[in-house]
Amino acid sequence: MIPATAATALDFARVRADFPALDQEVHGRPLVYLDSAATTQKPTAVLEAIDNFYRRDCANVHRGVHTLSQRATVAYESARTAVKEHLGARDSREIVFTRGTTEAINLVAASFVRPRLGAGDEVLISAMEHHSNIVPWQLLCAERGANLRVIPIDDRGDVILEEYERLLSERTRIVGITWVSNALGTVNPIREMIATAHSRGIPVLVDGAQAVPHLAVDVVELDCDFLAFSGHKAYGPTGIGALYGKRAHLLEMPPYQGGGDMILSVSFERTVYQEPPHRFEAGTPNIAGAIGLAAALSYLEGLGAEAVADHERRLLDEATRKVLEVPGARLIGSARHRAGALSFVLDGIHPHDIGTILDAEGVAVRAGHHCAQPVMKRYGVSATVRASFGVYNSSDDIEALVRGLHTAREVFS
Ligand code: PLP
Repeated sequence: MIPATAATALDFARVRADFPALDQEVHGRPLVYLDSAATTQKPTAVLEAIDNFYRRDCANVHRGVHTLSQRATVAYESARTAVKEHLGARDSREIVFTRGTTEAINLVAASFVRPRLGAGDEVLISAMEHHSNIVPWQLLCAERGANLRVIPIDDRGDVILEEYERLLSERTRIVGITWVSNALGTVNPIREMIATAHSRGIPVLVDGAQAVPHLAVDVVELDCDFLAFSGHKAYGPTGIGALYGKRAHLLEMPPYQGGGDMILSVSFERTVYQEPPHRFEAGTPNIAGAIGLAAALSYLEGLGAEAVADHERRLLDEATRKVLEVPGARLIGSARHRAGALSFVLDGIHPHDIGTILDAEGVAVRAGHHCAQPVMKRYGVSATVRASFGVYNSSDDIEALVRGLHTAREVFS
């Protein structure tokens, strides 16, 4: 049990006060926000960093000699360094700013994998991927006459590692795997999976969208080839995220989009591109977003990765126990190691109805397929209710969720 006010490793009362959006009522009830896997609320430090940029330093980057442009450039490039440090990368040139995880995966598909994917080659993903780690590969495989292979998962929601090893073949050109599943909460044994792929010379892209907000990340220790994540799921703004890529890979990769800022020189006869990462950042970037993301990562670091993971692990355990006490509740995903999210159904009540009843009580959860329709199919459901946690949640929020589930039970009895 995590009391809302008692001392935990996180100074909970302070953390909570850092998020102004939580201090409101919805339908006359205090807001209980349990949808952080979709997007997190933003701390004041992030709001202020963005506000400050627009109030004082707003200018375009990399192009101006004037003071504001220089300030904006320094802030934008410092944000890159902040991401590099947060991910434990060796070199900030290994960090490409993108719109988020989706764009980062599309970038790898288009620029790294496309040139090395031929007819009959294979891309290997898992059965629990988000659509953003499925559809880009389907598009690419269709274009190249290649095949998408899928690592099955067991009933608990763990990848079947023997099947993974069996599916790694001489034709596998990349493994794309989520570290933490947004639909099941499964934490995959990512280090082991990367090492297995590498032992066969196969590169690995890690979808870190649900990992970066909850776990300590060290890309050098992981030895992943690429890692994608979104700022908005880690207390930063929407429209910004990053791709980490090993420098040797990025140097080999052709541009992803053409435009301003990604070139050294342009003539009608020949264009010379910038080196990575700027080669992959055509056009005016999301400057304020990058600055806000840096503030978010700094906020998370201030809390401490271990304290965050510990707080959320205890919330997840408590929520799992209490939700399962509601009559007819069934977990969708009970993997050995989970983080961040709890997916479940209540017999006889559609998840959308549960979501609506909870909303009337001020409790925000996600009800649907969570952009992971194949994994829903694997469990024979079209949708689940997903309660997901952030640093600002407490046992009180779990109590409110469970009360709402009992209300739903009564309404549908
Ligand atoms: N991957 C996972 C595991 C996710 O949970 C999400 C978003 O929910 C994404 C990828 C896509 O992230 P974005 O929409 O920010 O690009």
